[in-house]
Amino acid sequence: MGKVKSKNTQPELAVRRLVHSLGYRYRLHVKKLPGTPDIVFAKKKKVIFVNGCFWHRHNCAGGRRLPHTRRKFWHAKLEGNKKRDGYNMGKLKRMGWMVLTIWTCGIDSSGSMKKKVLNFLGR
Ligand SMILES: [Zn+2]
Repeated sequence: MGKVKSKNTQPELAVRRLVHSLGYRYRLHVKKLPGTPDIVFAKKKKVIFVNGCFWHRHNCAGGRRLPHTRRKFWHAKLEGNKKRDGYNMGKLKRMGWMVLTIWTCGIDSSGSMKKKVLNFLGR
């Protein structure tokens, strides 16, 4: 147990397609780095996490939702995930990495995600 996210989810693939179409080279799921970032730009020392709102307790409607049963269990589990995310992010930053988190609710085709990625990675 302890594995929060499944790899190669639809949202993750959408972000990867975008990053690829912008011409960036990256590596995937680098286990050596805290939190196993989804998309890693080693030369730039930048990483992107694609986080499911529910699993990572995003501050949006989908992230605040709790299942109707076993609420205590879910609350503890999801808060634990969130805590671990914060811990990993701090660790990455101390190691000199820059981190961008893309939430599934922010994945769109209107171009705002693209702008975000371009701002983060630089041209
Ligand atoms: Zn969200």
